[in-house]
Amino acid sequence: MTGIDLSQQWFDRAVDVVPGGVNSPVRAFGAVGGTPRFMASGRGPYLTDADGTEYVDLVCSWGPMILGHAHPAVVAAVRDAAGRGTSYGAPTPGEVELAEEIVARTPVERVRLVNSGTEATMSAIRLARGFTGRTKIVKFAGCYHGHVDSLLAAAGSGVVTFGLPDTPGVTGATTADTLILAYNDVAALETAFHEHGADIACVIAEAVPCNMGVVPPLSGFNALLKRLCERYGALLVLDEVLTGFRASRSGWFGIEGVAGDLMTFGKVMGGGLPAAAFGGRADVMDQLAPAGPVYQAGTLSGNPLATAAGLATLRHATDEVYAAVDRAAEIVSKAVSEALTREGVPHSVQNAGNLFSVFFADGAVGDFAAAQRQDVRAYAAFFHAALERGVYLPPSAYEVWFLSAAHDEEALGRVLDALPHAARAAA
Ligand code: PLP
Repeated sequence: MTGIDLSQQWFDRAVDVVPGGVNSPVRAFGAVGGTPRFMASGRGPYLTDADGTEYVDLVCSWGPMILGHAHPAVVAAVRDAAGRGTSYGAPTPGEVELAEEIVARTPVERVRLVNSGTEATMSAIRLARGFTGRTKIVKFAGCYHGHVDSLLAAAGSGVVTFGLPDTPGVTGATTADTLILAYNDVAALETAFHEHGADIACVIAEAVPCNMGVVPPLSGFNALLKRLCERYGALLVLDEVLTGFRASRSGWFGIEGVAGDLMTFGKVMGGGLPAAAFGGRADVMDQLAPAGPVYQAGTLSGNPLATAAGLATLRHATDEVYAAVDRAAEIVSKAVSEALTREGVPHSVQNAGNLFSVFFADGAVGDFAAAQRQDVRAYAAFFHAALERGVYLPPSAYEVWFLSAAHDEEALGRVLDALPHAARAAA
């Protein structure tokens, strides 16, 4: 291994000009300690940092890189698009093709492209309120839907990683119409609808919660959400920003078959460039400007480079790709459980299809409260021991471990070699 001198130098420079030295909080090693690695390049399943050290990447840019880094078809598509200009501020054929691909793979009838998952959920909430004429929204503790003000309450991901109950800057008034329920709690849900049903515009849920670690929905939970929304005239917004085009070619919908009235997508559909989307029933989506009165817009929405990367990624995300990701996820999740068991480290590896995370906790984790009882210090030790052996895990105990179709025998072998050391460090 080489050192981390250059990462340290970049980090020192960064903290002088960027808050905390990073442009998204979890990238800092705040929860695990140490110096974040500054990455110079990616290739297939590997990342190489500024000092020239190569890592097997189990973050995959937090989900998008399902084909691996610098996939030749994606690089070629972006290069080709860039050669024709980077943004026109006018409609393009690529946007239509990407929208058609999303509509073909999912239950949504219409789709609008945006730049981030945050924008997608923010816009879906506005549309749900505009469509129903109601104010309240229901979200679940531990679900993360981006840094939308009204959804930054009991949010998972970086918010919980940094131990923030909520965040300064979000006013009480902004979240006053957000009802927060425990995930998988059927009784609480029925009570909320019983008490507030006439005021609830929508329920928003991650199709599978992945931002407090993976907490699979109880069998029938998403279907129940759908039924209750229907009964009370609310909309169901299923957030597939993380699971979309990753859990299967049709996302979590492809596995469970429950369609949201509105659905949000991001990550994989942008192929590593900033693209996301929200879509759903035609009668709801057609309330959006200019077809309808609910305003939503974006200077760079449907950007030609992003749509080219997204389209190339989706077109190459074939059944073989999903089979490879499923297999890689199974191999790694089994191996980590075996390694931790061997060292007597309490843990629960939880999965929903190819999405999995590792809780350093005794027994299954069913909700946010249980997720927060895990031993984050043990995870930090595990993380650093893996990093020293060339495996880049999410620098937070609350995140999914992401794999790609590029994680071949060689890359998986390196992970399996590192796991016993990491498990020993966590013991
Ligand atoms: N929704 C979910 C389920 C997510 O996992 C994320 C990001 O991790 C978002 C929304 C927000 O997406 P973005 O970071 O692109 O704004």
